[in-house]
Amino acid sequence: MPAFDFDLFVIGGGSGGVRAARMAAQRGAKVAVAEVAAMGGTCVNVGCIPKKLYSYAAHFAESFEESHGFGWKGEAPTLDWELLRTNRAREISRLNGIYVQLLETPGVTIVRGWARLNDAHTIAVDNQTFTAKNILIATGGKPVVPDIPGREHVVTSNEMFDLDPFPRRLLVVGGGYIACEFASIFNGLGSQVTLIHRRDKLLTGFDEDVRSFIASEMAKTGVNLQLGQEVAGIDKTTDGLLVHLKNTGQGSDASFVVDTVLYATGRSPNTAELGLEAAGVALGKAGAIEVNSQYQTSVPHIYAVGDVTARVQLTPVALGEAMVVVDALFGPATGKAARQMSYDFIPTAVFTHPNIGTVGYSETAAREKFGKVTVFRSDFKALKHTLSGSTERTLMKLVVEDATDRVVGLHMVGPDAGEVVQGFAVAMKAGATKAIFDSTIGIHPTAAEEFVTMREPVKG
Ligand code: FAD
Repeated sequence: MPAFDFDLFVIGGGSGGVRAARMAAQRGAKVAVAEVAAMGGTCVNVGCIPKKLYSYAAHFAESFEESHGFGWKGEAPTLDWELLRTNRAREISRLNGIYVQLLETPGVTIVRGWARLNDAHTIAVDNQTFTAKNILIATGGKPVVPDIPGREHVVTSNEMFDLDPFPRRLLVVGGGYIACEFASIFNGLGSQVTLIHRRDKLLTGFDEDVRSFIASEMAKTGVNLQLGQEVAGIDKTTDGLLVHLKNTGQGSDASFVVDTVLYATGRSPNTAELGLEAAGVALGKAGAIEVNSQYQTSVPHIYAVGDVTARVQLTPVALGEAMVVVDALFGPATGKAARQMSYDFIPTAVFTHPNIGTVGYSETAAREKFGKVTVFRSDFKALKHTLSGSTERTLMKLVVEDATDRVVGLHMVGPDAGEVVQGFAVAMKAGATKAIFDSTIGIHPTAAEEFVTMREPVKG
């Protein structure tokens, strides 16, 4: 008789949880995963995937517009929002099914419901209880809305994909990547979008040039950016939601009416009602679960990965962390070394219009970390726009550590920036120097070739 029902019990069937559960089961472990909602978690259901699908939808608007310069004639088609929502929902349920299959094929037991710890080895899901030798908490996070008057009238990113009706006038509150992406996407889909952010620049933590450049590009596409502003409160009226601003002084901009207000001002880890205290799992800053470099919590056989640890909140990071846990518990895949997770040079994209792609250090962070750096920057009109009539520009920037010639920061604002930057991230993980970039032959004519042809550093 085994001492426990399971070798590993995973709480949360999102990016990190599903990866850990299925890889552990493939290594022969007896595994269960508890999920209270649709399988796949935030990324699949209300994050990366539906957002990217809507971003594709939104880009058609500019493509129709730009096609005229290439000789295409005729009226631009109009958006059938209901059809887009239906098609997205169908694709997401297909993915939910694939996730279930991915778990069932290697023999993972799926338990539907809210899981909580009764003690350090016992998990309760509704009326059932299970014991496990090891437990992985991968419960992710949720959006938080500040306590403003009229808070009950706002929505979060979770609701944006199924809005009914389509918001003709949308206010986005926040300046992080989720706020910027939704502003761009709904602007492209046809909403009149205002974005309000309390700071004077978008995207804190990103390179300063990228921050300024994207603000000017988003404004060009028609997003009304109101930086250095705050919402004082929201009233529901017969015409829509009446938004009152703080810090505006007097004038007509002090309040305005929209159909929908999206708050994208932050997320918090899902740690409530989990029985963490009963199990002895300690929380750190901002309610996130504290873990060591092997993702062990204060109780060594209870692990935590992904957004619930509030480190780097990205799907590929949650996946990488899950693999570290599986390798440590059940051994690495045949012929492979046990995985370790490195937080250096994590590439990321922001699906604004145009996109942002970035890997490594911002210029400011690089100067702090490495001392002397040399910066290369190029800002140009892409070949496509010589005919398209669009005024969109592309920004590319390299930050090079003087002492080693290593490229430590690479940033792009422009079409498909994420696709471009992914490849360069491999080179940068491998320690590529500026000399190696210079000796790389460009692919002509592309925008990406600019990264290997920048010769003149920015002065000063
Ligand atoms: P999640 O994927 O959130 O999964 C947690 C799961 O646990 C959920 O399914 C939840 O229902 C379940 N759960 C919670 N508590 C319990 C319980 N007690 N019992 C049972 N089940 C429970 N990342 C990217 O890399 N690229 C992107 O483009 C991107 N875009 C995003 C856009 C938006 C709008 C948002 C909100 C996020 C985006 N992210 C993106 C972030 C990404 O979605 C998360 O980093 C990732 O999903 C984290 O995975 P996770 O496993 O930690 O948690």
